[in-house]
Amino acid sequence: MSCRVRFAPSPTGPLHIGGLRTALYNYLFAKKNKGSFILRIEDTDQNRYIKESEEYINESLNWAGINPDESPIKKGEFGPYRQSERKSIYNNYVLKLIENNKAYYAFDSDEELNNLRFEYEKKGKTFKYDYSNRKSLKNSLTLTKEETEKLKKQNSFVIRLKIIPNQIISVEDKIRGNINVNSNLLDDKVLIKSDGMPTYHFANVVDDHLMKISTVIRGEEWLPSLPFHKLLYKSFKWKTPDFMHLPLILKPSGKGKLSKRDSEKMGIPIFPLSWKENVGFKEIGFLPNSIINYLALLGWNDDTEKEIYSLKELETAFDFKKIQKSGAKFDYDKAKWINHNHLKNLSDKSLLSLSKKSLKYLNSSYKKTEVLKIISLVKERLNLIPDLKKETLFFYNDPDYSLLNEKFSKNKDSIKVLNDFKTVFSSINNIDDAKNQIINYGNENNLKLGYLMQLLRISIVGELSGPDLFSIIKIIGKSVTLKRIDNLMSKLKN
Ligand code: GLU
Repeated sequence: MSCRVRFAPSPTGPLHIGGLRTALYNYLFAKKNKGSFILRIEDTDQNRYIKESEEYINESLNWAGINPDESPIKKGEFGPYRQSERKSIYNNYVLKLIENNKAYYAFDSDEELNNLRFEYEKKGKTFKYDYSNRKSLKNSLTLTKEETEKLKKQNSFVIRLKIIPNQIISVEDKIRGNINVNSNLLDDKVLIKSDGMPTYHFANVVDDHLMKISTVIRGEEWLPSLPFHKLLYKSFKWKTPDFMHLPLILKPSGKGKLSKRDSEKMGIPIFPLSWKENVGFKEIGFLPNSIINYLALLGWNDDTEKEIYSLKELETAFDFKKIQKSGAKFDYDKAKWINHNHLKNLSDKSLLSLSKKSLKYLNSSYKKTEVLKIISLVKERLNLIPDLKKETLFFYNDPDYSLLNEKFSKNKDSIKVLNDFKTVFSSINNIDDAKNQIINYGNENNLKLGYLMQLLRISIVGELSGPDLFSIIKIIGKSVTLKRIDNLMSKLKN
C-alpha cells in the first residue's frame, strides 16, 4: 500500500506552531516513505469557522516550504479536499450504517438532554447517551418505523453510532503501543449533527478511508478519540490506518499545554505568521528553515549532538521510531539559537536581500561590496533578522556614548591616549597598518594593549562588544575614525 498521510486542520483560527509541527511530521513521513502529503480542510463546525484561516494555513505551509501534494488548491484524485463540500458523501455512508443497524436516529431535544444531564448530576453521575439508557430515549431504536419517519420529516435529528457494549477495543499507537478500552466507557457519539453536517469523528474517519490515508499522524489530544474511530472503521469493515499521536507541546515552565494566553503573557510568538495583533515568527525575524528545524526537535532527536538541520537533511535524518512519548517544552531561547545558526550559515548576499529595506541607510554611504563585507562581519552576532540593523547601525551613525562606563570616563589618561590615537591615525597612509601602529604605540608607552583596544572600540562603536575592530576601521575609513576619536574626547572633556 502506498504511503499517504494528511494534515487535517480545522479552519477555526490561525495555525498554531503545534499545528505546523503536525504538518511538518506528516510532510517528513511522506518524504521518507516516498508518499503523498495531503492537506484536508475540516470545516464542518460552522459555528467555529473563520473564513481567513484556510488562506492563513496555505500561506504558513508555503512559507515553511512544506507544500502539500494534494489540497483544496492543488487538486488530486481524492477530492474535494474541503469537508464542507463532501456532505453528500457522509450522508451516503451514514445511511449504510443505519441499514446495517450500526447507527440510529435520535430525536431527543436539547432541552430533554439537558434535563437528563441535570438529573444525573443530582445523583452524582454524568449523563452519557449509551447502551445503558438508549432504550429509554427518543430514537429509532425505541420508536416505531412510522413514528421515526414522521419525526425525520421535521428535520431535527442527529444520527448516533450504536455501540455494542462489553467489547474490548484494542488500538495501537505507533509511538505509545497498545491501548485497550472497554466499549462500555464510550458514548453513542453523534455522527451527523442536526444541521446535517457530519461531526469531526465521522467525517475524519470516512475521509481517511476514502482518501486512502495509510498513517494518521496528529496531536496527542486526539488519542482519547482513537477507540471510537476504531469502532467506526470496524462498523464499516474497513481496514484501519496506522496511528501516531505526537507528544504535546508544553509551556516553557510549569505544567500544561502551551496556549495562546501563555505566549501573550510571555511575549513570545506562537503563530508562524502574524495574525491580527499577534506577531508571527516570520515577522519577528525567523527564517522558515529555523522554525522547521526547531519544530522537528520538539518531540524528536536523533541521539547525536547534531541540532542544526535543513529541511532537506530532515527529510532523510528524521527517524519516526525516535519520537518521544512525553510532552516537549517550548523553549524560545533555543528557537532563537537555532535561528542564529541558520542566519550565520546564510550567504552575505542572501542576508542582504532579506534585509534590503532595513539596510537602506548603509546603501546610501557604502558600495555594495562594502555592505556585503559589513554583513559578513556581523553575521555571527544575529539571533533574529532585524538584529542586522541594530548590529550595523554604528557603520552609519556616530555613537552617542550613552553606554560609556566609569572605567573610561574617570580615567584621566583616556583623553591623552585618545589624542595620541589621533596622531597615530593621522600619520598612517595605509589603514591596514593601523593595528601594528597601535601595538607599537602601546609598547613604546608601556600601556596595556587590552586597555587601548577597549578605548579605541568605545570611540568607534560606542560599546565594548562588536565585530573585529580593525575590520570596522578599515570599512569606515580614516576620516570617520578620526572624527569619532575626537567625538569621544569632547565627550570626556565635558
Ligand atoms: N480537524 C482536527 C484538528 O484540527 C484534525 C484531527 C486529526 O488529525 O484527526 O485538529
